[in-house]
Amino acid sequence: MVNAYYDEDADLSAVKDETIAIIGYGNQGRAQGLNMRDSGLNVVVGNIKDASWDMAAKDGFEVYSIGDAAELAGVILLLVPDEVQPEVFEEEVKNKLRPGKSLVFAHGYNIHYGFITPPKYVDVLLLAPRMMGVYVRELFVKGSGAPAFIFAHQNASGKAKEKTLALAKAIGATRAGAMEISFAEETELDHFTEHFIMPVIIRALQLSFEVLVEEKYTPEAVVLEHYASGELSEIFKEMAKVGIFKQMPLHSTTSQYGTLSYGKRVMPDETKKLIKEIIREIKTGVFAREWMMEQKTGYPVFKKLRQMVFTHPINEVERRLKEMVKISI
Ligand code: NDP
Repeated sequence: MVNAYYDEDADLSAVKDETIAIIGYGNQGRAQGLNMRDSGLNVVVGNIKDASWDMAAKDGFEVYSIGDAAELAGVILLLVPDEVQPEVFEEEVKNKLRPGKSLVFAHGYNIHYGFITPPKYVDVLLLAPRMMGVYVRELFVKGSGAPAFIFAHQNASGKAKEKTLALAKAIGATRAGAMEISFAEETELDHFTEHFIMPVIIRALQLSFEVLVEEKYTPEAVVLEHYASGELSEIFKEMAKVGIFKQMPLHSTTSQYGTLSYGKRVMPDETKKLIKEIIREIKTGVFAREWMMEQKTGYPVFKKLRQMVFTHPINEVERRLKEMVKISI
């Protein structure tokens, strides 16, 4: 059985005398920093001199260069994008680490694939909210919290787990539940969602749009029907609340029969072979190496892919639809 931890399992005193440095005041940095400060922790921000720096200052934080914040802090949350973390770590954080300090990640990627190797004398912790930053904040303000994966990967201080739990409590994660899984499992599950679940959904919507428009269906109606009304996101919310199959009675019997009877046709059981292949590519680091090469060569494939999707006709249809139908979700 996996361990899950709640507010009563965590004690803020494990980190309350520490200075906490949020390195990178972006999606996660802002949300986690504000939540930790509201929980009574001593939080400073380390950032490059840009709009995020100004935002942190406007939010009332003391803002430093990344190196200065890492020097000041006992607990350092590395919340810059994953692809820039190795460089930021090597150049500005590594030489500020001392025995007893903790290095915290919101995603296991760089530790799991060995792009960052922290010294043995620091704690290495995982605090990975399962939620976009803006909702990590919104849920906290409402009095609830976003669940998170947590792990004390390297326990140099002897208090790594207590510190992980305290930080999870401070961002509101133990209000919902903080689940203990390794850096490897967090990374691989996260990538699986990005390499199978999300592409299946987005590609299904894209191909369906292309074919239905070819078949002379009204483009705006296709987009409204498939996702723009917000019904799909409400269905996903119901799945999260009650379950993928238990939400089905909310739909008509015609809808339920159609959905269940076409499932195997559109995605036969043989798809499991592809799923296994994708898992193997994640486990053996095929994707991590490919993504690293992309970064080193100036993102040639990524640039082409982005160009392709942002010039797709569906973007113009979405724009026209927004002028026609007011969506309030
Ligand atoms: P963001 O893309 O929001 O960037 C965070 C900050 O890093 C920004 O202030 C950004 O500045 C700054 N930054 C960008 N490039 C550099 C650089 N070269 N040197 C220094 N600072 C830089 O990151 P996220 O919050 O999305 O991701 C942070 C971590 O959280 C990652 O490990 C990610 O996997 C994890 N995570 C993210 C989730 C999410 O919802 N986004 C969910 C769960 C985990 P600027 O504003 O100028 O770009």
